[in-house]
Amino acid sequence: MTNYRKIEHGSKLVVATHNAGKAQEIRSLLAPFEIQTYSAGDLNLPEPGETGSSFYENAKIKALAATQKSGLPSLADDSGFCINALNGDPGIYSARWAGPNKDYSMAMRTMYEKLGKSKDRSCYFISVLCLAFHDGVTFEFEGKIDGEFIWPARGQNGHGYDPIFQPKGYSVTFAEMTEKEKNTISHRGLAFQQFIKNCF
Ligand code: IMP
Repeated sequence: MTNYRKIEHGSKLVVATHNAGKAQEIRSLLAPFEIQTYSAGDLNLPEPGETGSSFYENAKIKALAATQKSGLPSLADDSGFCINALNGDPGIYSARWAGPNKDYSMAMRTMYEKLGKSKDRSCYFISVLCLAFHDGVTFEFEGKIDGEFIWPARGQNGHGYDPIFQPKGYSVTFAEMTEKEKNTISHRGLAFQQFIKNCF
């Protein structure tokens, strides 16, 4: 059985992301726990290269880089959007498909075009959270949500690929949900439930 470390109320935690949408979601998930959060962007921490070959490896790279530079416990999320008919693409390359200008409209259209006439529109979001401590100890938590690729994209809320993802059993996309509704069922929300259950 894993011996998780607890995060004390009032303690400091770095949210190891430079993605503003993700930072906002993570902060709101952590809001009830009275801990002081700093984003990697706020602290001007360098953004490490995502050189791993899995969500687990990349989450660990980001969390360890942030704790080593800041000296504080750090939490990173590596997440992505996976389309079954495209063999799991964009997967760990989800952010990179949007290019340096973070053009998600272009990336969503590319997916639509690659899918062509494929009848299989199943896809999922996955999130791996890594909590890292300055002594190099890490803990990982995973969340996943299945759904359907939607075209044309719908909704104005959220970020990234939210407008083309409709979770199984719902008739709205992530981008048509409020942040609270999305966080209750999302891949990141589910990974957070594991993190909170074990570390608070
Ligand atoms: P990374 O984890 O920073 O490498 O990037 C993950 C990428 O996956 C983001 O840039 C988004 O493109 C996508 N992504 C992850 N989670 C979500 C989400 O909740 N909604 C929409 N897109 C997401």
